[in-house]
Amino acid sequence: MRCEACRRARASLRGFSMDLCEDCFIRIYRRRVFHVIKAYSLVGRGDRVAVALSGGKDSVVALKMLKEYGADVFAYHINLGIPGYSDEMESISREFAAELGVEIHVTSLREEYGFRVVDIEGRKACSACGAVKRYLMNRVPRELGATKVATGHNMDDILEFFLKNLLSGNYAWNRKLVPHNPSEHPLVLPRIRPLFEVGERETLAYALLTDLPVRADRCPLAKFSGWKEIIYEIERKKKNFRVQLIRSVRELAAHMPGEGTVWRECTVCGEPTSREVCAFCSLRARVDAHD
Ligand SMILES: [Zn+2]
Ligand SMILES: [Zn+2]
Repeated sequence: MRCEACRRARASLRGFSMDLCEDCFIRIYRRRVFHVIKAYSLVGRGDRVAVALSGGKDSVVALKMLKEYGADVFAYHINLGIPGYSDEMESISREFAAELGVEIHVTSLREEYGFRVVDIEGRKACSACGAVKRYLMNRVPRELGATKVATGHNMDDILEFFLKNLLSGNYAWNRKLVPHNPSEHPLVLPRIRPLFEVGERETLAYALLTDLPVRADRCPLAKFSGWKEIIYEIERKKKNFRVQLIRSVRELAAHMPGEGTVWRECTVCGEPTSREVCAFCSLRARVDAHD
């Protein structure tokens, strides 16, 4: 079978709803990512971007793409203290940043705050982990001089969020499913997602073809949802289903009403929050209470 893009070389892999040769695959992947960075103005003049580097393939590729695009970047890694997982992810992150010649900053939850996400009782580890990441990924990069935070969320991750929000009736949450999430508060950094129009499997293939570390992002505590398999199943019958849907999700987001967050300062740490005590400080208090 011939490559559907160059029509010369033999096609050896499938991606973007096409059978492609390796060279065309790599070229199209980069073009898609650079298109997102440019079309949605992810990076502007004077921006310093903190890339949330988990050590998984998506964050590794996001960092590499932003660096190659010419953005002023540094890597930020959080060691969450998950046994048999977090220390390995930290070393992959440190090695990869060094190889790329990018500065890296690491926060160890256990060393700096005295707890691990697995120590939090009374709340599911995944929601606690989400709260910890949201907090640190904003506060630490901002204190280090970042103007934006980039994450490795890919198109399939975002489509999965979209479908879950739709079925649970949390329509307003779809407002955040955009490649460039602007700031709603002077102390909250805008979030950008350079992999907004490339999927999980395409990112894995890109990482393999270009010799990047491909440790799966999957945390041992995460549950398997099955949504991505369903999305790919539809794409097998409807060409370009995912990219068409993600572009609609982005347009739909603009029509979603704001949540009308009333911002206040956390009475413990002073960070912006909608509550009296922010989610991070509440978690810390809960861990301390168990000591
Ligand atoms: Zn080709
Ligand atoms: Zn707080």
